[in-house]
Amino acid sequence: MFVGIDIGGTNIKGILTDKSGKILSFRETETPDNSRDIDQAIFNLIENLATSVSVSKIDIEAAGIGAAGTIDRAKGTVIASPNIPSWKNYPLSKNLEKKTGIRIFLENDATVACVGGWWQGNGTKFKNWIMVTLGTGIGGGVVIDNKIYTGQSGSSMEIGHMTINTDGRECSCGNRGCLEQYASASALVRYVKENINKNKNSSLYQYVKDGSVTAKIIHDEALNKDDFAVEAMTDIATYLGVGIANLVNIFNPEAVILGGGLSQAHKMIIPVVKNVVKERALSGLKEKVKYLPIKDQSKIPALGAAKIAIDRYNFENR
Ligand SMILES: [Zn+2]
Repeated sequence: MFVGIDIGGTNIKGILTDKSGKILSFRETETPDNSRDIDQAIFNLIENLATSVSVSKIDIEAAGIGAAGTIDRAKGTVIASPNIPSWKNYPLSKNLEKKTGIRIFLENDATVACVGGWWQGNGTKFKNWIMVTLGTGIGGGVVIDNKIYTGQSGSSMEIGHMTINTDGRECSCGNRGCLEQYASASALVRYVKENINKNKNSSLYQYVKDGSVTAKIIHDEALNKDDFAVEAMTDIATYLGVGIANLVNIFNPEAVILGGGLSQAHKMIIPVVKNVVKERALSGLKEKVKYLPIKDQSKIPALGAAKIAIDRYNFENR
């Protein structure tokens, strides 16, 4: 049996599968705010997955983990994570192997979403496609000729940090004008906070004033036809379209698949993205691109992490 874990800014999701990818158990827990507690939360999650189907941890051959940040795959360390600052050259794999006794394989969170989509999600329909994960930050993955491309150390497709505004906002990565400063869930919330005083009639006004506004609330209010909420959604989707137009020109993909928490708003985001790509990308590249949401945001990334564990465990034990 194998475990797949997807660590997001808000939740940690875990699944237990057999080697064919059949899901035996699924568990979810909140992401703690420091690295030591995250280690413990993952340990507890693996225990819960095992006991939920009455198996012993000894029956788990390996676990794959998708972590938000740049990683060193060979060392199993998170080099830096803009959204989990206490991960700095953090030996996540080693810590968890010591704690659990299970072989751990580390990957980037957008890569595990991409692998999940390639294995069991909407990516199975295409040979050349891009995964864009929209959450606290923005991540990416790419499949070229039906193979996942991850770069020399596992950190390719950091598309959230492509510059789309040379004089733009400072980013936690050290650059300025990065895509995720304009098109992520955090960017959506910031847009609303910065412009709320010009929109006091908006249903979002009270949420901003009492400090409870979230990306989900903004999306819900946009669905309720609040003009300012729609404006905010359109603003981030427009910037996302600019980023995706760049990717369409570079990769000439058959499809762009949206993952991450904010992909739940795909019905509102995709039409805007499509129009921006139509305006900006090259003729001959932009016409036939399909835009789809990830099939199941709660399980596909964790499944991808399990697939990585299965393949790399088999490779080590061949
Ligand atoms: Zn950046």
